[in-house]
Amino acid sequence: MYKLMTPGPTQVSDEVLAARALRFKNPDIDESFVEEYKELCEEISELLGTKNETLILGGEGILGLEAACASLIERDDKVLVIDNGIFGRGFADFVTMYGGVPTLYTADYRETIDVEKLEEYLVQNHDFKIATIVHGDTPSGMLNDVDSITKALKKYDILTIVDAVSSMFGERLSVDNIDILCGGSQKVISAPPGLTINVISDKAKETIKNRKTPIASFYANLKVFFNYYEEKWFPYTMPISDINGLKVAIDRIKNDPDIYARHKRIGEAARKAIASVGLKLYLNSGFNNTVTVFEVPEGTTAADIINTVKNDHDILITGSFDCLAGKVIRIGHMGESANDKDMSETMAALDKTFAKLGVKLNGSLEESFRANL
Ligand SMILES: *Cc1c(COP(=O)(O)O)cnc(C)c1O
Repeated sequence: MYKLMTPGPTQVSDEVLAARALRFKNPDIDESFVEEYKELCEEISELLGTKNETLILGGEGILGLEAACASLIERDDKVLVIDNGIFGRGFADFVTMYGGVPTLYTADYRETIDVEKLEEYLVQNHDFKIATIVHGDTPSGMLNDVDSITKALKKYDILTIVDAVSSMFGERLSVDNIDILCGGSQKVISAPPGLTINVISDKAKETIKNRKTPIASFYANLKVFFNYYEEKWFPYTMPISDINGLKVAIDRIKNDPDIYARHKRIGEAARKAIASVGLKLYLNSGFNNTVTVFEVPEGTTAADIINTVKNDHDILITGSFDCLAGKVIRIGHMGESANDKDMSETMAALDKTFAKLGVKLNGSLEESFRANL
């Protein structure tokens, strides 16, 4: 099996895999599961530095984005969709699907959101109930300053939905100005895909409880979870093996005080290496330390680079999609994949790949990466 160096799913530790393989309780009938679920949710909130309640839902990261929109948005609600990337823009579809009216605030896809400009825009345009923001927009490697953006939105009492699926535990963020924060199991958390995390403020809960219309979904309905602990009841049988794996993955993060610093060190060294050999990073600003994105150089294709790295070196990196399809290469260094050894091997594989494809670099990616660590 190849080494996963993609921006999700990431490598998964043997400990997490083993936890998922164990015999399990009946999560519907055995009330001790409710206790374990609650403890894990509280552990996640604590690690994120917030008192807001965490819920874990059975479904891939996209479910968290959809559940946030389905639960908060009512017909004709005005929603500001902050868009400087593919996931940013994608929120508009969920807004429309649940009857809201999206207004796109579109900015340059190569630059992090300029908060001063956003503040100027908000002076004239702030009649929104909700705003959606992406912390790490993974297809381009974008990182937005969510702390400053949510602060600007809170001046106008706008509820905030933040997609931190690819950045949670790799890039710090302050959760207290976020009404629904979304995370996923298969990125920095380093468990297999299958679980989504929603962290919900009291204000979001009140808003959801006071809706005039019912939520037009069952599976993406956060309200049905609000009393799970009192009622010892979940709306559907919880995926207990996935949750047992997540528990071990979260414990590993808890016991890894270096995790944010390591992502930063590896992200910075990777970008320096890319630039030093004459390749071009896709972004001008807003670099997410969990993924490195560079342009496909002249004379080759994304598919040739990815296939050569995979077939000759047993390492999987990836391209991108939508407006970036074929244009860029992405190396994921998230969670368990964010380690010096695997990244050095990936860089060495890229050196050999470019040589084989006849692309001349001004030096070695691997050497430069190691020197900058
Ligand atoms: C991975 C990711 C998601 C979840 O979607 P996928 O189906 O795994 O692509 C959502 N948002 C962001 C920013 C992500 O990186």
